[in-house]
Formats: sequence, structure tokens, C-alpha cells
Amino acid sequence: KEMIEALSESAERLRLAIESSRMGIWDWDILTNQVRWEEHLHHIFGLTQGSFGGTPEAFLNLVNPADSEKIAQAVTSAIEEGAPYNVEFRLRESDGQVRWMASQGQVYRDKTGRAVRMVGVGQDITERKLAEEAMRESEQKFFKTFNANPSPMSISELKSGRVIDVNESFLITFGRTREEVIGRTADDLRTWADPQERETVIEALRQHGSVRSRETRMRMKDGEIRTFLLSVEIIELGSEPCLLMVGVDITEHKKLENQLLQAQKMEAVGRLAGGLAHDFNNWLTPIIGYSQLLVRSLEPSDYRKKEAEEINKAGQRAAMLASQLLAFSRNDAPRMSVLDINEIVSDMGKMLRRLIGEDIEFVTHLAPHLGRVKADRRQIEQVIMNLAINARDAMPRGGSLVIETGNIDFDNSYPQRNITVESGPCVMIAISDTGCGMDTETQARIFEPFFTTKETGRGTGLGMYTVYGIVKQSGGSISVYSEEGRGTTFKIYLPRIIGAEEDQAVQTEVRDLTGQETILLVEDQPEVRGFAAVALRSHGYKVIEAEEGESALRVSEEYTGRIDLVVTDVVMPRMSGTELVSRLLGLRPECRALYISGYTGEAIIHHEGLRPEAPLLHKPFTADAIARLVRETLDSDPP
Ligand code: ADP
Ligand code: MG
Repeated sequence: KEMIEALSESAERLRLAIESSRMGIWDWDILTNQVRWEEHLHHIFGLTQGSFGGTPEAFLNLVNPADSEKIAQAVTSAIEEGAPYNVEFRLRESDGQVRWMASQGQVYRDKTGRAVRMVGVGQDITERKLAEEAMRESEQKFFKTFNANPSPMSISELKSGRVIDVNESFLITFGRTREEVIGRTADDLRTWADPQERETVIEALRQHGSVRSRETRMRMKDGEIRTFLLSVEIIELGSEPCLLMVGVDITEHKKLENQLLQAQKMEAVGRLAGGLAHDFNNWLTPIIGYSQLLVRSLEPSDYRKKEAEEINKAGQRAAMLASQLLAFSRNDAPRMSVLDINEIVSDMGKMLRRLIGEDIEFVTHLAPHLGRVKADRRQIEQVIMNLAINARDAMPRGGSLVIETGNIDFDNSYPQRNITVESGPCVMIAISDTGCGMDTETQARIFEPFFTTKETGRGTGLGMYTVYGIVKQSGGSISVYSEEGRGTTFKIYLPRIIGAEEDQAVQTEVRDLTGQETILLVEDQPEVRGFAAVALRSHGYKVIEAEEGESALRVSEEYTGRIDLVVTDVVMPRMSGTELVSRLLGLRPECRALYISGYTGEAIIHHEGLRPEAPLLHKPFTADAIARLVRETLDSDPP
């Protein structure tokens, strides 16, 4: 009786255990081919109690046909090879919903080893399967987003900063290998240019839950600092709060932005300076012009000749300053000629040596077969001189100045970051010194007008500004490499000319500057007009003066003789020079025109509709200059 009691107690325990495990027992009598199912199995298959057919075939009928082969194989190998029977399969779909089941069992054999029975359990594993699948999908999505993301991404522990994972782009951008990064902390790697920044980001995360597009500077392996727009989320990995970071590299954008700002600033200052220089030139014209006439008219013994010469010299120096300011946009097209830079450097050698003094060694490396460039010789000389002067100033205790030339061919893939050169053949002029060098802040500002680090009276801050203006005007570009305490190299790239253009030699001829023609002179500034009239008359011309457009037209109407040339200011009140000329030419088609302006060529071509090829005289001008251009215009082909 005790035995029976113990037995039924044990049976009860077994039943409860099976019930709570949500498994259903199956039992296959291989000899009779009968399958018996416990209640729970009916439930899993959605059958009512007792409606199961009771054969293996009836069972396989309830299985998704795609999986029945798998089950048959598992059974065969369990029976024939004694392999463990353990399969997962899908049920035949009734309502479009996939349901999964796992089945495990064991084979029982008689004394001869023949399989007589298989018993096991079945279990609904749909939920687990769906969860697994969702997990796999999300993992895949994450894997793709993380690894294929073109922006650097990293996952690191919030507390320790230890890096758990980074993507490909991170490794490429930061120039590191996976082994170098994983397991190390942000501090070890010194990734944050400002280590405090990490704390600030974490604080922002605490407050707002996430950080979006925060401008952050990061350090690459080679020490380079790059700027990123950083976005950060907190994720939990194994109950450890971690930072998921994405950084969009905006370093190049920033650089371009800065370049643009710089260019805009230069343009604004250039325009301002140009406007000033214009007024300046109006006053310099009579100063230089009259003093020159005075010098000529005075006897060498006259002490006033010396004084007049001093006035003239001061005026010339002031005009130099004004012309430096105008260097940017001045459009002196006629002075362009085909140049051999090697020849210029050689010619300047003696002068440069004297300029830099004995403590500084002067070396040139001039490339043989150097290509030609098209530029203004005097301007190029000025560029080389300004750079040499700066080099000298940077080497107060001596050193060496090296001028190098070379042919360079840029192609589009040229990886140089800080210069913008049109692709194509160039001539390079490199000027290096072993002087004090510059920090990056100074480097960023050297081309600004009036930027100088030299004491007042020593530096004007116009040297590099002029260099920049001339190089740009010549269609070239300039780059600077400098290290504090080591020295500086400036490289200038000018477009190399190819083919026929090269052979055009430039000829300067001496010509007679006098004439007897009649000139109508229109200029609203009485000082400039007065001087121009004197200068022209002194060269033999007959000059009729007018102070602006309307009166010029009146004068022309009253004058019965022939007018060969109108010399007019471009910018005048009420009527512009260009309008005057077009009205005048309507009445006197034989007349030619010459313009005078204190503005730069570029500015008036844009604003006053002046044809680029129209003869143009820049203020301030000398008597010789106006006489030469007048003669040239009169001798040119008729309009
Ligand atoms: P300035 O020579 O009158 O100061 P620049 O326009 O020629 O004006 O130069 C501007 C500034 O650029 C200089 O004051 C100097 O700080 C810096 N600079 C230019 N060239 C060099 C150089 N070769 N080495 C060091 N610093 C230089
Ligand atoms: Mg200088």
C-alpha cells in the first residue's frame, strides 16, 4: 500500500512538472506504428482532444511540408545511428501565422537492439523564434548602420571611456588599427582635442538625453586636429551605460568657409583701400606733375631745383603706396609680357644680395628648361623683392635665403589642401628662409593689408598684401609653409604658357611724344585738369578744357575746327566719361577717346561700361605718361 501511495505521488509530481514545462509528451510504438499524444500536444497543434490521427503520417501532415524531410531524416538517424533526436520545425500554416515547435526524443530498443519505441516531448517555441529573428534583423541593421556608415562611429563605456567598438570609417579617419583602439580609453588615445569636452558632452547627455551635431575637435593619430559635428546617444550594453557616438567630419567645410571669409574680407578692404587710393591719386597728380615740370624748368644751379625734386620724390613715394593698395584689382593688361622667371631671378641677384646683407647666404636653384609665364615683369620683381625683404627681416642673426624655380604639373587629384590651383602646367617660384617662422595665427593673417608683427615704423603690412594681389592678378596662387623657429617657404605657382605665345617677344621702342593735334580735355578736378593741360601743351598739343560732360558737348558744338582726341575722366558728376564719349563720337566720328581714372581698371570696367581695350590712364600720372598714351592713342587705328 505504501508502495502504491509513493508511486501515485511520484506520478502526480511528474504530471505537474510536465504541465508547468508546457511540454507535450508523445509516444510512438514503432512495431504497431501507433502514436499517442498527451493533451498539451493537441493544444500546440490547435486540435481538439482525440482528433489526432495517431500515426506518424498524420503527424507529418500537420507539419509545414518544407520541414517534413528534416524530421524524417532526424528520425532515421536516431534509429539507425543512435543520434540524439532534436529538431525544430514549422507547423503547417492555417491562418498565415508561422508557428514553431521543438521536439526531442529517445529511441528504445529490445534485447536484440531493434528499435521498438520512441518517446519524447514537443514544445511551442514560436515566441523564442520570433524574438531570435527580430534580434537577428536588428543586429543586421545595426551592423550595416555601424560598419557601413561613412562617418566615424564609436561605442565606449560611459564611466571609464573604454572603447568597446568602432567602425571602419573611424579607423580610417583617425588613422588607427582596431587593436590600437579597442579596450583603450579616450584618455589613453587622446582623441578629444580638449579633454574637458568629454565631460561637457556627458553632462549635456544627462540633461537632454542626447547630443546633436555638436562642433567638436578631435585628434588623429598623427596629431592632426579635425573638426566634427558630434552626435551622441546613451545605449545599454550588458547593463553598462555606453556612449554611441557619430561624428561628421566638417574640417574641409570649415577650411573652405574660412577661405571664403578671408577672401570676402580681403575684397572689402581692397575696395575700401581702392576708394581711398582714388582720391589720393587725384591730389598726387598735380603734386608729382607740377613738381616734375618745375624740376625741368629750373637751372641746375638754382637751389629750388633740389626742393622741387624733394617734392617730386615724396609724391612718387606716396604714389607707390597708393599703387600697392590698388595692386589687387588694377587691370594693367598692356604691361603683361612673356617672362622667363630664371632670368628675372638672375638679374635681381646682385640687388637681392645687397638687400639681404652679408650675414645671410643667398642660394638659387633654377630649373633648366623652365617654362615661360605671362605677367608684368615689374610686378613679379616686386613679389620676389617683398618676399626677400620679409625673409631678411625674419633672419636678424643670419641664415640662408633660397630661391628655387621649377616646372610643376598639377592634375586634378593633386592632394595639396591649402592651395587652390587650376589644374595644368605651372611655373613654381619657391622662396625659403631659415628665419623665425610664424605660428598658425600669423600665417592666417599675413595677406591682410596692414597686418604686421613688426614695430611701428618698421613694417607697413602691405608687403604680403601686394604679393597676394599680384599673384592673384597673374592668375596664380601662393601657399605658405612655416614652422616657428625653423623657417618659412612661400611657393608661388603661375600658369605656364605653352606653344606659340612663348615666342612673342616684347619690344619697347623709343618714340617721339609730341604732336600738334587738338585735344578736348574733360576733368572735373581742376588740379588734375590744370596739370594735364600744361603737360599736353608742353608737348605741342592744342588743348581745349571742359570741367564736365555737358559743357564739353557745348564746347565741341561751338568749336568749328577738328577735334582729334577727347581725354576724359571716367567718373564725373551728372554725365560719365563713357556717355560723353559716345555722344561726342556721334557728332564727331573722327574723334578718338582716352580715359583717365583713379579707380582700378577692373572697377570701372564693371561700373562704367568701359570697354576693356579702351586706352586708360591711371591717376596719378606724369607728364610723360599722359603724353605717351595720347600719342599712342592718336597713332592707333581709327575708331
Ligand atoms: P611687413 O613686412 O611690413 O610686416 P608684410 O605684409 O610683408 O608686412 O608681412 C606681414 C607679416 O607676415 C610680417 O609682419 C611677419 O609677421 C609675417 N611674415 C612675412 N614673411 C615672413 C617670413 N619669411 N618669416 C616670418 N614671418 C613672415
Ligand atoms: Mg614685408
